[in-house]
Amino acid sequence: MTGSQLNPVTKHREFFGVPGALGMVLVLPMVIPLLYFVTNENYCIHGVSLDIEAIKKQIPSTWTQLSNICFHKQSWLFYLSWFSAITTLDLILPGKRMNGTQLRDGTYLTYNINGGAVSSTVVAIIAARVVSAKNYYVPELQFVYDHHLHLIAVSIIFSFAMAIFVYAGSFVPLTHENGLGTRERILSINGNSGNPIYDFFIGRELNPRIGAWDIKLFCELRPGLLLWIVIDLACIHHQYHQYGVVTDSILLVSALQAIYVIDCSFYEEGSLTMLDITTDGFGFMLSFGDLAWLPWTYSLQARFLSLPQNHVHLGWLNSMLIVALSGFGFYVYNASNNQKSEFRQGRLENMEYIKTKTGTKLLCDGWWSKAQHINYLGDWLIAWAWCFTTGFRSPISYYYVVFVGGLLIHRQMRDDVKCSAKYGEQWAEYKRRVPYKIIPYVY
Ligand code: NDP
Repeated sequence: MTGSQLNPVTKHREFFGVPGALGMVLVLPMVIPLLYFVTNENYCIHGVSLDIEAIKKQIPSTWTQLSNICFHKQSWLFYLSWFSAITTLDLILPGKRMNGTQLRDGTYLTYNINGGAVSSTVVAIIAARVVSAKNYYVPELQFVYDHHLHLIAVSIIFSFAMAIFVYAGSFVPLTHENGLGTRERILSINGNSGNPIYDFFIGRELNPRIGAWDIKLFCELRPGLLLWIVIDLACIHHQYHQYGVVTDSILLVSALQAIYVIDCSFYEEGSLTMLDITTDGFGFMLSFGDLAWLPWTYSLQARFLSLPQNHVHLGWLNSMLIVALSGFGFYVYNASNNQKSEFRQGRLENMEYIKTKTGTKLLCDGWWSKAQHINYLGDWLIAWAWCFTTGFRSPISYYYVVFVGGLLIHRQMRDDVKCSAKYGEQWAEYKRRVPYKIIPYVY
C-alpha cells in the first residue's frame, strides 16, 4: 500500500470545517471555568435569571490574577504527579493482551487491558489516604476541592500540550514498531486534510503511541475518568468537613458515577470498538475532552450538591426511583454494547444480520433491531438519573443531560456518515430494517 492509499486526504470536513474547529479550540476551554463560576459557594444559578455581576466579580481581570490561576505551583505538582502515577500504574500492572480492530494496513495493535488493576489500585490508595491521619505523599481530598479552578486551568493547559505533542509527533517518520521494521503511521480518515488547525483539532494520527504504550486508549480511560471519581469524593469530603453532613443525594450521584467509571475500567475491551478508538484520530478534541472536559464537567452534579445552598435530601422513595432509572439505563447500555461486542467476536451466530461488502456483519436482531444506537439511549437514561439527584432548584445541574444528549445525537449523525461511506447499500438496508436512530418509535 502506498502512502496515499493508506492515508487518503480528508475531503469531508466535520464541525463546520476550519472555522468550527478553531471556534471550538478557543471557546470550549472557557466553558469549563464558566460552569465553575456559576456553581460555587459565592454564586450558584437558581431559576432562570443570571446574576451577571456575581459572575463578573469572579473572572480574573488582570494578567497577574490569570497567571496565578494558570501557573499555581501546587496544582501543577498535583496534576503532574497524578498523571505520572497513573501512567506508571498503567505501564507496570499486568493485564490481558488483546488485539484492537484491524487497521487499514492489515495489522492489529496490541493493548494491555489492565483497567481493573489500575482503577482498583487507585481506589485502594485513596481509601488508605482517607483513613490515615498523616500521609505526606498523597494530598488530602480537600486540596482538590479547594483548588478546583486552578486544577481546571492546569488540566486545560496540559490537554493543549498533549494535543500539540501528538500532532507534532504525527509528522515524525515511524521507523520501528513492535519489531515490524519500517512502516508508515496510520492517520485518521477524518484528520488528514492538510489544514493544521483542522487536523490538530480532529486528531491527525489514529493511534499515537510511545513504544507499545497507546496514548489514546490511556487518555480515554485513565487519568480523566479516574479524576472524575476523585473530584466527586472531594465534594463529599468537603460537604462533610465544612457542614458536618453528607446528604443522600451527593452519596447517590457519586456512587452511581463510580459504578459507571469502574464498569468502563473493568470492561475496557469494549472500548476497543468505540468510534474514538477505531475511527477518530487523537488530537485536541479527544485530548481536551478526556483530560479536561470530562472530569471537570461530568462531576458538576456532585459539586452542585456540595454547596450549602444545594443540600438536597432525597429520602428513600426518590432515591429508589433514581436507582431504578439508572439501573434500567445501565442495563440497556451494557446489554446492547455487550451484545454487539459478542456478535462481532463471532459468537451469537444464530442472530439475524446483514453481511456487508467489506465482510463485516451488521447485527439487526436483539437490541440492535430496536434502534441503530440503542446503547446511546441507555447512556442518556443514566444521565437523567444523575441529574435527578440534584432536585429541581437550578437548570445548571441539568447541564449534563443536555450536553450528553447533544453529543450522542451528533455521534449518531457522524456514525451514519461513516457507515454509509463504508457499507453503502448494506447500511441503507440496515436503516430500512431498523428505522429508529436512538429512541424506538420516537427518534
Ligand atoms: P457504537 O458502540 O454504537 O459504535 C458504532 C460502530 O459500531 C459503528 O461505527 C460500526 O462500526 C458498528 N456498528 C454500528 N451498527 C452496528 C450493528 N448493527 N451491528 C454491528 N456493528 C455495528 O458507538 P460509540 O463508539 O459512539 O459508543 C460506544 C458507547 O460509549 C455507547 O454506549 C455510548 O453511549 C458511550 N459513549 C459515552 C459518552 C459519554 O460521554 N457519556 C461519549 C461517547 C460514547 P464498524 O465500522 O466496526 O462496523
